Amino acid sequence: MEAQDGVCAMCRQSCASGRKLAIDHDPATGETRGLLCRSCNISLGLLKDRPELLAAGISYLVRSGQAFPTEALADLLHISTD
Ligand SMILES: [Zn+2]
Repeated sequence: MEAQDGVCAMCRQSCASGRKLAIDHDPATGETRGLLCRSCNISLGLLKDRPELLAAGISYLVRSGQAFPTEALADLLHISTD
């Protein structure tokens, strides 16, 4: 978690509310997954930690006209677009 350099593991920002980052746990195992800002921590909880709901949300936003640069997705997924 020290590798996160004080930023959220999801949005890579410091907590906008000025609060400390929350320790995120895997609800199934209880193991620590990383540090999250309040917004990302709440968002994951509301989406029940289900990747398919997160992906559905991305699909919904893109279909609704939200710009989503390929480079940003590649960076998030740690893949190369070359
Ligand atoms: Zn965040």
